[in-house]
Amino acid sequence: MKAVTWQGKRDVRVETVPDPTIQEPTDAVIRVTSSGLCGSDLHLYEVLTAFMTPGDILGHEPIGIVEEVGAGVPDLMAGDRVVVPFQIACGDCWMCLNGLPTQCETTQVSAEGMGAALFGYTRLYGSVPGAQAEYLRVPQAQFGPIKIPEGPPDDRFVYLSDVLPTAWQAVAYADIPQGGSVAVLGLGPIGDMACRVAQVRGAGRVFGVDRVPERLRRAKDRGVETFDVSSFDNEKELVTAIRDQTDGRGPDAVIDAVGTEAHGNALAKLAQQATSSMPRKLVSPLMERFSIDRLAALHTAIELVRRGGTLSLVGVYGGMADPMPMLTLFDKQIQVRMGQANVRRWSDEILPYLTDEDPLGVDDFATHRLPLDEAPHAYEMFQKKQDGAVKILMQP
Ligand code: NAD
Ligand code: ZN
Ligand code: ZN
Repeated sequence: MKAVTWQGKRDVRVETVPDPTIQEPTDAVIRVTSSGLCGSDLHLYEVLTAFMTPGDILGHEPIGIVEEVGAGVPDLMAGDRVVVPFQIACGDCWMCLNGLPTQCETTQVSAEGMGAALFGYTRLYGSVPGAQAEYLRVPQAQFGPIKIPEGPPDDRFVYLSDVLPTAWQAVAYADIPQGGSVAVLGLGPIGDMACRVAQVRGAGRVFGVDRVPERLRRAKDRGVETFDVSSFDNEKELVTAIRDQTDGRGPDAVIDAVGTEAHGNALAKLAQQATSSMPRKLVSPLMERFSIDRLAALHTAIELVRRGGTLSLVGVYGGMADPMPMLTLFDKQIQVRMGQANVRRWSDEILPYLTDEDPLGVDDFATHRLPLDEAPHAYEMFQKKQDGAVKILMQP
């Protein structure tokens, strides 16, 4: 089959690899019909190269048709249409039963000290072959795949794999009071969707911050009060402008949907570029001991949120020694919540919103639909934010 493989820094290629097969009774194999490209894939493209191996199959946002199931998957059969969550979880351990499939005790990558295995996401997360491919082996298929109805196009449901539950959890963790305010930093697919979820879940005011014109426009068109970072001389001015909208206090909650590749800190960017070009053996221990994250957005979030407010971190961070303004965090009495999205924890709540009325605007959320063969172009375009690319779906 054809699959998108990681070959090195900013180098992905579509290659022919062996078709996946059933290996465990709890496996399924699906034929992928659409597969999303995510901001998390961009971290692998450039920054997290130390944790990748050439040939790794990328991707974790698939929708498709079941081809084959193992004997331990009673609820699925060939021909079923499914969305597959980006994390692999058993559904039956203590963590899964407590709504934390990202921490699944059956699939935890304990050799690396990490939580549940993820599709297509580095050796830290189990080096599981990913979903930007014609076929995907789905382990723990007795729990993960979400059956969806025939009929509507893939776009209606594909975001259940990641974007929707991630945005949903970001908003749930933000704990916005009814009618209260939230600022969302970063208006990529995740931040954009978090704004939409906040609106339908009853936030009174939603502020969105980015610097990419079409991303700001998309949010503004849906009633978000947008702020263009590049129009302010410094962080303080941006924070003041948003505080002025909230009686001088700052929003009740701030969602950081940017993560480790925030712009705004040239020095940290240099450090990331240096480590992403170094030999793997040298980098891994370095990354564990020093800060490798670009923290500009996180620091803005801490400044911006009102005293006693909530910070919900949904952008991915990876440093083990990031310097944090503990004085400010403590003095402002900020609640902080974060993590990978627990897909099955939220999917049943989200499904009723995926209707013809389309309150979340999923049907035209994608800006690009490309054949899988064009993956190298898709990655480059998404990273460089060219051609208005916000969300790209690839079709094998
Ligand atoms: P993206 O890279 O398209 O979006 C990031 C956006 O942040 C861009 O639009 C960029 O212009 C903007 N930005 C950069 N620096 C900024 C700053 N200082 N202030 C304001 N905006 C800034 O990616 P995405 O797909 O939307 O993903 C966003 C983040 O969410 C990534 O870190 C991704 O890894 C993470 N993610 C987490 C989960 C989860 O389960 N927690 C799931 C999916 C994605
Ligand atoms: Zn993703
Ligand atoms: Zn489990």
